[in-house]
This record gives sequence, C-alpha cells and structure tokens, in this order.
Amino acid sequence: MNLSTPILKVPSIGMIYAKRLEKLQITNVEELLNHVPSRYKDYTIITKIAEAQIGETVTIQGRVNYIKNIFTSGGKRIQEAEIEDISGKINIIWFNQIYLVKNIKKGQIYSFSGKLDIFNRKKSLISPDYEQILPGKDTIHTGRLVPIYPETRGVSSKWLRTRIKLLLEQKIEDFKEFLPLETLKKLDLPEYRYSINKVHFPENLKQAQKAKKRLAFNEVLLHQSKSLFRKKEWGRNLVTNPLKIDEKIFKKFTNSLPFKLTKSQEEAIKDIFADLSKEKPMNRLLEGDVGSGKTVVSAAGAFAAFVNGYQSVFMAPTQILAQQHYQTLNEIFKKFKVRITLVTSAGVKSDLGKTDIFIGTHALIYKNIKFDNVAYVVIDEQHRFGVEQRAHLVKKAKGQRTSPHILTMTATPIPRTVALTVYGDLDLTTLTELPKGRIPITTWLVPPKKREGAYRWVSEQIKSKNVQAFVICPLIEESNVETMKQVKAVKEEFEHLKEIFKDLKIGMLHGRQNAKEKNEVLNLFRSGETNILAATPVVEVGIDVPNATIMIIEAAERFGLAQLHQLRGRVGRGSLKSYCLLFTESKSQRVLNRLNALRKNLSGFELAELDLKLRGPGEIYGIKQHGFPELKIASWQDTEIIKQAKEIAEEALAHPQKYKLLIDKLKLDSIALN
Ligand code: ADP
Ligand code: MG
Repeated sequence: MNLSTPILKVPSIGMIYAKRLEKLQITNVEELLNHVPSRYKDYTIITKIAEAQIGETVTIQGRVNYIKNIFTSGGKRIQEAEIEDISGKINIIWFNQIYLVKNIKKGQIYSFSGKLDIFNRKKSLISPDYEQILPGKDTIHTGRLVPIYPETRGVSSKWLRTRIKLLLEQKIEDFKEFLPLETLKKLDLPEYRYSINKVHFPENLKQAQKAKKRLAFNEVLLHQSKSLFRKKEWGRNLVTNPLKIDEKIFKKFTNSLPFKLTKSQEEAIKDIFADLSKEKPMNRLLEGDVGSGKTVVSAAGAFAAFVNGYQSVFMAPTQILAQQHYQTLNEIFKKFKVRITLVTSAGVKSDLGKTDIFIGTHALIYKNIKFDNVAYVVIDEQHRFGVEQRAHLVKKAKGQRTSPHILTMTATPIPRTVALTVYGDLDLTTLTELPKGRIPITTWLVPPKKREGAYRWVSEQIKSKNVQAFVICPLIEESNVETMKQVKAVKEEFEHLKEIFKDLKIGMLHGRQNAKEKNEVLNLFRSGETNILAATPVVEVGIDVPNATIMIIEAAERFGLAQLHQLRGRVGRGSLKSYCLLFTESKSQRVLNRLNALRKNLSGFELAELDLKLRGPGEIYGIKQHGFPELKIASWQDTEIIKQAKEIAEEALAHPQKYKLLIDKLKLDSIALN
C-alpha cells in the first residue's frame, strides 16, 4: 500500500463506503489520512466510579455486570447496564439503541465516556460512547481527546476514527517526510507522519494544533508549488507567434472607440500588448470589478492579432454570454473589417478561414475550431479553466510545442492571499477604476415589514420611468451546476411575482432552459417586452441590459458580499440612476451589519476582503461556486501559512534537488502541458 492507493483497495473499506467517502473528496489513502478532525471531544478525565461527580464528563472503565433492554409501558426503549471497578458500581443508560445488548458483552472490560447524571434517582452515566478495552491497544473512542470529523451521510466520526487508526497501523510505503528537515526546523513545523498521527490521536490540544498547522502548510504548499511549476513549464520550451505591435495599432484602436479608456484600461492593454509581442505565449489574468470594462481591453488584443493576420477566439461560460460578446465585439469593431463568427451548437455559421474572431462556449470552441491560425484566446468569467484546459491549446509541431496567447478574465475579486495560491501560475493585471460618469447604485436593506412598500415602489418606478427590474431568487445551495431545487425556487418566485405585479410582464431565466429558450427570454427582456426578470443566482452573471435599473435580491443574507456586489453589478450599467434592494428576513445584527457594508461605496475587492474577515473560512463569497480549489485543512485567512508556503515553493523551484521529494509529490507528469 502507498499513499496514492485507491480507497477501495484499502482492506476493510468496501464499495459502499468508498462511494460515500467520495462525497468528502476522499479517494485515496493520503486523502483519508488528511481528513482532519474539525474538533475533539474531551474525554481525558478517567475516574474511579466512586469518585465520579454528577455533571462531569468522565471516562469510566470497568467490567460489565449486565446489560438489558427495558421496554417501558409508555413505549420507551431504554438500555441499562451495570459496570463495576474496584471502587464500586454504576448504572449506564442509553435510549433507543436496542442493538447495544448484542454489541456489549457481559463480563468484559469496557471503557465508557460521557456525562454523569441522575436517572431514576440513581447516579448514572447517560448515553456514553464506549469501546472494549483490549490488551495492548489504546482506546480511540473514549478516555482521551476523541476526534470529531466532518461527516457525510453514512460515514460517522466513529467509523472514520476506526479506519484511520487501522490505516495508521499498516505499512504505507511512501508515507514519509517530503520536506528537508532544515526547512521544517526553520518554520518550526513537526514531521509529516508525526503530524498525521497526532492530528487524529493527540495527547493534548496544543499538539493537535501544531500537527494541524503542518498539514495546513502542506496543503497550501502543494497548491502553490504546482502553480509555480506550471508557470515555469508554461514559459519553458513553449513558443507562439509573436505579434508585431506598435503605438500606431494602439492609437488606431483607442481612437475608434466612442469613449475614452480609463488609465487602468490603458495600462492593461499595454501589459497585454507587451506580452503579445513576445515569443513566449501570454498567460495573463485580467481581474476587474463588474463594469470596469474588461471586454474592450480584451478586444484590443484581438485587434492586434487581426492586424497581424491572425485569428482570435473568445470563450464564454454560457451561450448567452457568447451571444452578448458577439454583439459587443461587433459594436467595438464596426469601423474595421473584422469578421466575427458566433459558434453555436448548430455548428459554425460561416467559412472558418474567413473569420477573424470566433466566439462561443468552451465546449463549442473545442469541438469546432482548429487553432492553427489562432494567436490569441480570451476566456471570460471562467475559473475552471485550468492547466488541463490550457493543454488543449498546446500543439506539437516540428519538435516544438506552441500555444496561442491566453487572456483569462474574471470579475471575482480575489484577495491577494487567495490569488497567490490559486493563480500563482498566471500574470495578473487588475483594473482598479471604473469608467467615469457612473452613477453610484443606491442600495437598501428591506426587512419583511417594508416588503410590500418596496414592491409598490418598484411597480411605480417601472411604470413612470419605463425601466426594468431583475429579481434574484434565493440561493438554495452553493453549487457549480444549477440544481433542481434552485430551478424550483425560481419557478416559485416567478409565480409569486405574477401575483404581486399583476399588471406587469414577468420573465424567468434559469440554467435548465435550453439556449433557445434563454435567448427568447433575454431578448424579450432586452427589448423591454418583459418588465421584470426572475433569475437564479448562478445563471448568466455577465448579462448586460442598460435599461434595467432595479435589482432585487431575495434572501440576501445567504450570499457573500462580493457575490451580492457582482449581482448588483447587473444594474447601473447605463446612464440611469439604479437601485439595489436587498430583501432579508434576518434579524441578526451581525448579518444586518454585514449587509450594510453594501451601502457604502466599496469596491468588489474591498468587499471580498471584508467578507473574508466577517464570514470566515469555508464561506468566502462563493469560492466554491467559482470552482476555486477548496482548502480542506488550511483557510484563506492563514496569511502567515500562505506566505511561508510561497517562500518554500519558490525555494523549491530554485533548488529542485533539495526539494526532490516535494516535487515528486506534485506529480508533475500529470500537469505537464503536453
Ligand atoms: P465588465 O468588466 O463587467 O465585463 P464591460 O466590459 O461589460 O464590463 O463594460 C461595461 C460597460 O462599460 C460597457 O457597456 C462598456 O461599453 C462600457 N465601457 C467600457 N469602458 C468604458 C470607458 N472607458 N468609458 C465609458 N464606458 C466604458
Ligand atoms: Mg464581462
């Protein structure tokens, strides 16, 4: 057995459990070992029966004199046992666990941990955890700090504890230290094996914390090292067609626009142009708040490619957004003879060779486009676009590997610590300002008692100003794909809105509609035919309808601040004054304070940092939803660990020999780009 042995091959774990463990993202031995407890039950006080005090949580160890089921006349099922040690006897009581009389054997020595109380006027141990004491074996469920794990249906902490203990007793070939001892010393971190042992079965909490810190460090270090090595790999022996770029191209493009670029946009375009003129393919992330004008920046690159006689590709996460890009780019390039083709599921409409820019979803583009003459690829709002996808773009020809230049765009504001880890393999450009003349969006919190008034106000606005509104239905569960529950929620909202706004037209948009349906819905909304659009939170984050000036978000407290900010960014895109109404039934002052942050004029970036502070690990502004790697042990708030891991990752890159075992662990073959 070794660390990468699939969980199914572990003795004593069968098909059923292997499937269940998948839900906890446990698929091999190492992942099971790294399933770290979320807390520990303190069962460390072991007492003699005579000394045990009412109200205490204690561990009692003794012989079982009897155990029996008692079925009361009231229909209750009670299990009663009597335990004896040298100091005395005591009763143990459980409820509704009739199988216990078979599990616990009379006359054997057991260990029980639980709370002491009075039952039937007798001092008794109530519903304790228990295990048989066997010669030469430590107890694991009682009489110590007992690990409690993140669980899933059918996988209890008790089960996990037992299997992990068994696993730790097995021989695991490659379960050894992979960092130089010198490094561990410098960072004051314990060894790997020791840390795994102690995180599950610690002697005290301090030891557990130290062990966990090491494992958190591992997690971040592995992420970061992978990113760094990928970045190096990307730079090494990978070539592209350098574009000829000069000031004239830049001027020609910017002069053709109906507006003046912001300073930030100009700088971003210069970053991109500098990359495009190199032989090493660009691999850059363009980050910018909603509405900061990323599209036109990305279009500048396509213009440079066009002037040089190459093709470009724009990939959007959905067909709707692809469609929108198609319209936008046609507008941007209307003064030039740039030929733009929308790739749809029906295929490619026009002759491939006669196209300068292809636009489509990832799936469609891969299927339909040959990248031979493509010099520049833009990937919009797609966080899942990792190394594996980039590998699709890499071609081998004449002993050389080539790739187009790649620009990834995101409106998700990523705190620096997170970006370091998640996007360590990309160069980063951030748009730090919004185009001038944007009117700030007014945001209100709407408690239940003001809901009716709010609906009336919305109705009046729509009628008197001829504007439109979005209604985002509650977030049911965070997920990358839209769940049926989510679709149900939007359908309910739709019906509800039809009741409330009897004299207005309501549309509905969700992820289970097909592209044609979605298009129809959106076109009706764009043309002003429908007044209100009910939508799910997941769907179509990038849609742009300038006449929509009102955004209602239901159950706002379920969203992260940055997510709310992004949703809100659907309005305030034109020159009209816009409003965002956050509906919440929460009365918690903490929640209300958090939501109130949205009333200040903060950037998405500031809100993300704030969310990180206020909501803490595990809930960061829909990190999950955006497909970031989820940290299981570390948290994005561990800036210290993240910083240290970055230093070590860089050291490893510089001294691969010294860090050979770490590098082996990265499984670089599977991330290599060919
Ligand atoms: P996002 O960064 O959210 O993708 P878009 O690229 O969709 O933003 O731009 C939002 C709107 O702002 C578009 O209508 C675009 O035409 C407009 N815009 C972009 N840059 C500028 C600018 N410098 N001045 C004025 N309007 C701009
Ligand atoms: Mg956009």
